[in-house]
Amino acid sequence: MKPLNGQVLIQEFEAWSPKSYAVEGDRNGLMIGTLNKPICKVMVALDVLEEVIDEAINEKVDLIVAHHPLLFRPLKKIDTDTPHGRIVEKAIKHDITIYAAHTNLDVAPGGVNDRMAEALGLKNIDVLAPTQSVDLIKLAVFVPESHEEDIRRALGEAGAGNIGDYSHCSYSSKGIGRFLPGDSTNPHIGERGKLEEVKEVKIETILPVTMKKRVLNAIIKAHPYEEPAYDIYPLDNTGNVLGLGRIGVLEKEISLEVFAEHVKQVFSVKGARVVGDLQTPIKKVAVLGGDGNKYINHAVFKGADVIVTGDVYYHVAHDAMMAGLSVVDPGHNVEKIMKESVKHFFENVIHEKKASTEVIASKIHTDPFQFV
Ligand SMILES: [Zn+2]
Repeated sequence: MKPLNGQVLIQEFEAWSPKSYAVEGDRNGLMIGTLNKPICKVMVALDVLEEVIDEAINEKVDLIVAHHPLLFRPLKKIDTDTPHGRIVEKAIKHDITIYAAHTNLDVAPGGVNDRMAEALGLKNIDVLAPTQSVDLIKLAVFVPESHEEDIRRALGEAGAGNIGDYSHCSYSSKGIGRFLPGDSTNPHIGERGKLEEVKEVKIETILPVTMKKRVLNAIIKAHPYEEPAYDIYPLDNTGNVLGLGRIGVLEKEISLEVFAEHVKQVFSVKGARVVGDLQTPIKKVAVLGGDGNKYINHAVFKGADVIVTGDVYYHVAHDAMMAGLSVVDPGHNVEKIMKESVKHFFENVIHEKKASTEVIASKIHTDPFQFV
């Protein structure tokens, strides 16, 4: 087994969490180094602090994939007497590439916000603040009857055919495929220079345009023909709505006091700042990992009883209070939940590609705050 090239690993990652999902002005992608090298070990981190770089050096890591961009506030100079300068220096000296997936990972289905909503036990999860919609395309693949099942499975596993909460959706119709293999071919069915007729199935499915490459690669891999026949159609259907934060409901109504305890337990934090009467009944919950100050009104308009977010300002807390919205602020660091989900994603990619790359999650505690 060989280690995966960084470009291949990140190509897979960006099929899930493309840079185009990021909000305007955000910093994403390659921060330092190169992706064009074999990655023996990748480490997933929430923040890139100097301790995190030291951990990566000790662990002989080739690539750090972090949620918070190291160069969010661009450096004007690389002064190696400052912590930021030393991070850059150490990364380059030890050939550690740093890549960041920030708001694109917040927005991505199954990303930071979905993980947080799921961890809180929310049901009927929807987007809190829509940022964009992704166009859908229709894909029709023609396949001999013998490989119908294989292609349907490959399409579903690659993520095609998701409609609402249903996955692996497709439609098939039977027909006759005809082809004449040319002189340079090596046909799976038939022989060169002889017109062939085969009982085939046309499988139709729907997918977001962002997944086109991934899905096509999957069918080409699973299809028995040298040159699989397929058609792609643009669609006028409303695309998948993407955005920041999530909103959903708890299985049963609980008080704000009980809910705040639940938040502390779920995210393993010692304390949380709470705005609102502790006896307020809580059923509908908005969640936005990180700094959700700008999204308080989205939660109010969508009828949330509470918003779980970090870094809430004093005056924003007043606004929420006056609008009758409770707030639970367990701190920005709860986004650390992304470490396990991104690690799991990479493990699947590596397993699928039968590569030897190892994945670890950073063990450094990066929450600057403590309660006394
Ligand atoms: Zn954040």
